[in-house]
Amino acid sequence: MFKGTEIKPFENKIWLASPTMHGEELKYMQEAYETNWMSTVGANINEVEKITCEKIGCSYAVALASGTAALHLAIKLAGERLYGQPKANHGALEGHKVFCSDMTFDATVNPVAYEGGEAVFIDTEYDTWNMDPVALEKAFEIYPDVTLVVMAHLYGTPGKVDELRAVCDKHGALVVEDAAESLGATYKGVQTGMFGDYAAISFNGNKIITGSSGGMFLTNNKEDANIVRKWSTQSREDAAWYQHEEMGYNYRMSNVIAGVVRGQYPYLEEHIAQKKAIYERYKEGLKGLPIKMNPIEDYAEPNYWLSCMILDKHAMCKQVRGEKDALYITESGKSCPTEILEAIASINAEGRPIWKPMHMQPMYRTNAFVTASGNGRAGSNAYIQETGAVDIGADIFERGLCLPSDNKMTSEQQDVIITVIRKCFE
Ligand SMILES: *Cc1c(COP(=O)(O)O)cnc(C)c1O
Repeated sequence: MFKGTEIKPFENKIWLASPTMHGEELKYMQEAYETNWMSTVGANINEVEKITCEKIGCSYAVALASGTAALHLAIKLAGERLYGQPKANHGALEGHKVFCSDMTFDATVNPVAYEGGEAVFIDTEYDTWNMDPVALEKAFEIYPDVTLVVMAHLYGTPGKVDELRAVCDKHGALVVEDAAESLGATYKGVQTGMFGDYAAISFNGNKIITGSSGGMFLTNNKEDANIVRKWSTQSREDAAWYQHEEMGYNYRMSNVIAGVVRGQYPYLEEHIAQKKAIYERYKEGLKGLPIKMNPIEDYAEPNYWLSCMILDKHAMCKQVRGEKDALYITESGKSCPTEILEAIASINAEGRPIWKPMHMQPMYRTNAFVTASGNGRAGSNAYIQETGAVDIGADIFERGLCLPSDNKMTSEQQDVIITVIRKCFE
């Protein structure tokens, strides 16, 4: 157990990432109310779709209830484009494997299972903490029939887009890009959300800007945008009665929620600047400790959604994680994510472990997992020891953590957090 520090806890909790409102959100919500467009139709929806296209550079954006809904319809659409419309009562990916980012939030990969497909997890690289193009190429060698790849940009840092895209193009695979965490981030000057055949963004409460909930499907293809819009409104056909030829969903964004998103958009760049300042302050403040901040490549400009750190291997005290709890043994000069997170929590601030890789999750443990050095199975240490395969995702999970990154945190408050982290290494 963490023994605590002398430092007084913050009166108001410092969150990992919480909504930051500006007032204009209320104006657009009220407009929805006063014009009685209290529905999944209305001016706010049209406007946020337009703003999204302008911001990201895509031709079409379809406003949906969540980023998960956007990913679901993107993945279903990719499945239908590749394998045709499924028979009644069947998913679009049945009998098919799909290569997926491994170190991500489960919403990236669950839609593959919604559609009856089987996710094959691709290990992570150390340079950006995203899907490793080398492991992806390896996966195509092992499973040459796969034609769909779902990739995410973790914590707002763009992955190795050119390399990943080159591997996908070589094998004729479609790409679904999960830009839920990376709205506003650019790779070689181009916004994330522009690299997949289909992409998804999110306006969940903890994201860089929020609608309280909400998401968007992005594409450059008009027909695809129309299909997704139709699916998202119960797949109603053009008839006087409710006529249905295919599966539908109630996935459209509410016009009230769209009002919140509309009010937030003008502040996206301000939020990114605040998050960047937080990242830089941590980087400076933690200097000299045996740690590194989450990596950034020169050609990318992240949105700095979350600041993270990873301990050097030699600075790790013993830490053991079960399914739901963790223990560690304190050691002078060393620390571990569990200790640091307890220390942060003791002053009423919120950090979080790195997103636990999908191949280590109980529900996905039997899925295949491909590392750059070989085909690994589901967090199998035995396999990894036998083959010398390196499980990079498991390693980052073991040594890394997300730091309080709320843009309303003051620099004084952040300094206190930095002090508390430094104390863990004393
Ligand atoms: C938040 C998130 C999602 C899901 O978005 P929701 O709007 O919460 O449904 C998907 N993928 C990643 C990587 C996310 O962080």
